[in-house]
Amino acid sequence: PPNLEDPIRVEVRVPDGNWRLEAAPTRGWSAEVADDMRPTRVASGLIALLVIWLTYTQLVRQQDLTQAVSARTSDLERANAELQREVGTRQRAEERLKENDERLRLALNSGRMGTWEYDTAQGMLYWSAQAMAILGAPAEDKEQLGVDFLRSVPAEFHEAIRSAVRQAKRGDGDGPVPECRAEFRFTMPNGGERFLYASGELQEGTQDHGARLVGVIVDITERRQLEEQLLQSQKMEAVGTLAGGIAHDFNNLLTAILGFAQLSQLQAAALKLEGTTPELRDGLEELRTDLDEIVKAGERASLLTGQLLAFSRRQVHKPTRVDVNGVVREVERMLVRLIGERITLETSTAPEPLPVLADPGQIAQVIVNLVVNARDALPSGGEVKLRTLRVIVTDAAEAPFAGLAAGTWVVIVVEDNGTGMTAEVMARMFEPFFTTKRVGEGTGLGLSTVYGIVAQGGGRVFVHSAVGVGTSVHVALPLHSAASGAVPRGDEQPPQQPSAARVLVVEDEPGLRRLVAEILTRRGYAVEVASDGLEALTALTEGARPPDLVLSDVVMPRLGGRALADEIAKRGMSIPILFMSGYPAGEELPEDEGHTFIGKPFTPDALVRKVRALLERA
Ligand code: ADP
Ligand code: MG
Repeated sequence: PPNLEDPIRVEVRVPDGNWRLEAAPTRGWSAEVADDMRPTRVASGLIALLVIWLTYTQLVRQQDLTQAVSARTSDLERANAELQREVGTRQRAEERLKENDERLRLALNSGRMGTWEYDTAQGMLYWSAQAMAILGAPAEDKEQLGVDFLRSVPAEFHEAIRSAVRQAKRGDGDGPVPECRAEFRFTMPNGGERFLYASGELQEGTQDHGARLVGVIVDITERRQLEEQLLQSQKMEAVGTLAGGIAHDFNNLLTAILGFAQLSQLQAAALKLEGTTPELRDGLEELRTDLDEIVKAGERASLLTGQLLAFSRRQVHKPTRVDVNGVVREVERMLVRLIGERITLETSTAPEPLPVLADPGQIAQVIVNLVVNARDALPSGGEVKLRTLRVIVTDAAEAPFAGLAAGTWVVIVVEDNGTGMTAEVMARMFEPFFTTKRVGEGTGLGLSTVYGIVAQGGGRVFVHSAVGVGTSVHVALPLHSAASGAVPRGDEQPPQQPSAARVLVVEDEPGLRRLVAEILTRRGYAVEVASDGLEALTALTEGARPPDLVLSDVVMPRLGGRALADEIAKRGMSIPILFMSGYPAGEELPEDEGHTFIGKPFTPDALVRKVRALLERA
């Protein structure tokens, strides 16, 4: 039987289609059936709920995800842009770093500097390539110079270097950063010596490296040499002023001593002729020979003051165009006699003439002094070479003429293979009175005279010496070209003629004034005296008749000789003036105005000859 609880489904065919009829009990399913179906219904409800929930959460999740992704994407984009920027900055920084490196390299190169690092813990030095170049060492010496650099530095500098390093390590010093500085000499592998300056700063240690000193090294050899030259020339200047001052005063005294001694000699000779008794005649003869000794000693003294004046460049000299080769030929025979037989003198002169503007006597003096020194350095014989040459310096002069200015130079070389000099002797050799020779053997004026004469002529002296090897002295004087200008002429021999002319003697030193007056009076001149330029002017303007000649000292208090000449010219008087001085003190002597000059000390004869010559010319 059909279950009445089941619904009934019936299909009915109707004229225009199908009907479906369904029928079911109105009061639901029987309890039995309902019980069977409950779990299924609950389950499907739950499932539906689950599905709905799942769908919902899924939807929510999806939305979140989309949001997150888009947020993430923009984060990434930002980060990317940031990265781009950073890369750009980094690139620019790198470029700048490279530029700075290059700039530093250029700066180090142009400053002739190198860099170094000193590892204070390991005691190891690291040199840059530039530093190695400054040290004059090949790259393969780097290792060795890192370990025992001090071996190439003379011991006298070690303590200064060590204490500079200690000070930097301890961190004291003046600057805000611990630093060290030191100057020292360094012997290059090729034996050359350089003066170096090193300075560095302390860098604290990091995890990469320990504490170290980092710094630069500079070659200061040239600066040192210039400093030494300057010091030397300042010293010479000071000593020259002193020596020149003494020599000037001493010359005045010598002129008086020599002059009076010679006058007394004449007097004694004249008296001897009139002598009545043999005793008197003998006595006068003795007096005359004693006076002779005074004159000889005075002449030696005057040679000495002459040398001093040459050194202090105060000597009055008459520069003319001189061929140095000619001077060498003139003195050669004398030199051979001077140096004796155990020493050979080898002379060679340049084939072309070597004109310089100088006093020929002074050039001879330079050569003689140098050759005598060479002889003294060869106690047991040897060889002395004397050479002359023409040297053209274009740009930077090299040894042995380092520091010589560009131009054409006449060079005199005197070389010996004698004892040589130590650095201490070389430092003082130009000082007047410095000598290593025994009393009576050396005056210490030889090289100082050479120095003075050469400096006055605008030249330079270069000395190279090694103990046990020998010495070479190079004297460089500017070549005098024909175009360099006119040359003052030497004076000619005056005709012998007595004269009764009137002479005004102007001299501040009373002894000398008296002597000159005496000499001239004895020769028949009418003499007036004045003790300085002002007094002379008064005498000139108040006197009835102006004198025929003024004989005047150059350096005097109140009014000097040069100023006196100017005053005379201003007053329209044309009186020839004869200047006498051992010390022109840089005053240009007015030779061109018809005045002449006589150097002190002079002999009575020389004075009279000059006076006469000037009067003749007037
Ligand atoms: P002096 O010759 O009277 O001593 P110098 O001024 O001529 O004075 O020389 C000074 C010093 O220089 C000498 O005493 C000597 O020690 C040294 N000297 C000069 N020339 C030479 C040389 N050619 N060789 C070695 N030493 C020299
Ligand atoms: Mg000498």
